[in-house]
Amino acid sequence: MTFKNLSLYLEKLDNTSSRLALIDILSDLFKSSSKAEISMICYLVQGRIAPFFKPVEIGMAEKTVAQSIAISYGSSKDEVLKLYGKLGDMGLVASQLNSKFKVQNSKLTVAQVFEILTQIAGTNGEGTVEKRLKLLSDLLKKLDSISAKYLVRIPLGNLRLGIGDPTILEGLSVAKFNDRSKKKILEGAYNRTSDLGLIAQILWEKGLPAVEKLEVKVGYPIRSELCERLPTPQKAIEKMGTVDVQYKYDGFRVQIHKDGDNVSMFSRNLENMTHMFPELIEGTLKQVKAKTAILDSEALAYSPESEEFLPFQETTKRRRKHGIEEMAAKLPLKAFVFDILYKDGKSLIDSPLTERIKALKSTIEEDGTLIPTITQTISDPKELGIMLEDAISKGLEGVVIKKLDSKYEAGGRNFNWVKLKRHSAGELHDTIDCVILGYIFGKGKRADFGAGALLVGVYDSKKDEFVTVSRIGTGLTDDEWREIHKRADKIKVDHKPARVSSLITPSVWIRPEIVIEVLADEITRSPIHTAGRSTLRDEPSGSDSKSKTETEPGYALRFPRLVSFRDKDKKAEDATSVKELAEMFFQQYKK
Ligand code: ATP
Repeated sequence: MTFKNLSLYLEKLDNTSSRLALIDILSDLFKSSSKAEISMICYLVQGRIAPFFKPVEIGMAEKTVAQSIAISYGSSKDEVLKLYGKLGDMGLVASQLNSKFKVQNSKLTVAQVFEILTQIAGTNGEGTVEKRLKLLSDLLKKLDSISAKYLVRIPLGNLRLGIGDPTILEGLSVAKFNDRSKKKILEGAYNRTSDLGLIAQILWEKGLPAVEKLEVKVGYPIRSELCERLPTPQKAIEKMGTVDVQYKYDGFRVQIHKDGDNVSMFSRNLENMTHMFPELIEGTLKQVKAKTAILDSEALAYSPESEEFLPFQETTKRRRKHGIEEMAAKLPLKAFVFDILYKDGKSLIDSPLTERIKALKSTIEEDGTLIPTITQTISDPKELGIMLEDAISKGLEGVVIKKLDSKYEAGGRNFNWVKLKRHSAGELHDTIDCVILGYIFGKGKRADFGAGALLVGVYDSKKDEFVTVSRIGTGLTDDEWREIHKRADKIKVDHKPARVSSLITPSVWIRPEIVIEVLADEITRSPIHTAGRSTLRDEPSGSDSKSKTETEPGYALRFPRLVSFRDKDKKAEDATSVKELAEMFFQQYKK
């Protein structure tokens, strides 16, 4: 496939505001992709040249890209930047300047462009900027206007077409099997490896059975298993029987991969965090008695002397790109390891929890950095209540209880793991993670800050869509409004993003990227929100009965207020899901 052809598809994807259309366009694109290029195309539609967890960055500064454009199209950097000021998008600038140029039908293939982008990403050391500049400008000279538009957005990190991973999986299923029936199998492989390109390539080369057999691999993050909620220890034991109980630590989820002397680490949202925590690398090499292993843990600052767990806000200071060694010395982290998913070449995700805990204990040697979590087997609600109190008195969030015979369900959130928190006693005390979808202009004083209310939503994981749940106007200081406005303006779009479903049209739509933690008094039902809203149809039963259509109202938040920004550790898809919200809705009355 030529890069021009791919760019024509990217343009179609860019212009649609319907998710169904996204899938159709993607499946057409995938159908025309060969075995050799399908994985590259999967990465490129997400503006990448590797899966998210690989720390491959093509990042170039705006000024460098402007200079490349200037060199390619016989212009000056200042002129390019001036035009950029007018058009607001470097892709449009490149496309406009290129159109005066003679290249009409560039024959460069996706593979050739991918190769150059890989070279750009691989350049380092002295003269990096100049080398990257030359590679990009040589490439731009050979491309036509539409290709140039989409190409320059890639090194700038601006090719955000808002295509979620589940949508790509659906597109692959439709392309190969003409329907979505195989999406589940593809999703299973994705939960084990997190690599869309790899899955697509195996599907194209070897077919579905090979994808089904795709196992956990060291160096490829496994999608995290998450917790459900239950209101009380009684309810938990009633539903789950005998359980293993562990403390719920409030730090960062860190998945540790050991491959001989190589250690890599991933966050809950698949980001590579290897370089952030040198003390955990050292601890892993020293303490893990296995050649290869994958561990699931929560990392946080902890003082063994005083048995003090530092609050999340303190631990969070360690998520940074600079001054890492200094911070590691000042605020060393411990990893509380609660699971082992792979050991010496063998996946353990299908072994029952009790066996995994046994394996975990025999794999980690004591030394203080990696600490296997204490696990207690409990079947008495009273005893569970005492352990919950104990956790809270130690300054922890609560406990996580786990079914003894459960497998590790990669990417799953179900009643195999349940969190019990401090105030789980019935009312709505847990916060909800929402995604900002747009904002509504304010009047009066608020107008100065450009926003009067935020339109926020949650994630419908079944449909891979963002659905609205509330408008938030209170709980934000003037500074927070300014901050939101500044960030939102960088990602505003001129039409409703394809994966957003809303009955409300805000003054400004933004791409669903900013996650905020929200506290509300209650979850209520509401006809104006799309979270959990569904259309029920009564099929005609007799010849004279008419088909009746009813609408189940959505969910809404009553008295919502902002607690914190969570986009450092959560992607939009990690926001609270509609399913969780519905469960919280029903639980709030079960006191
Ligand atoms: P919250 O905002 O309540 O932390 P969350 O959406 O981040 O919720 P949950 O599924 O509700 O995630 O809670 C699971 C998280 O708790 C895990 O992602 C992990 O980071 C953390 N955690 C702490 N201790 C444990 C433990 N012993 N077992 C499993 N997860 C644990």
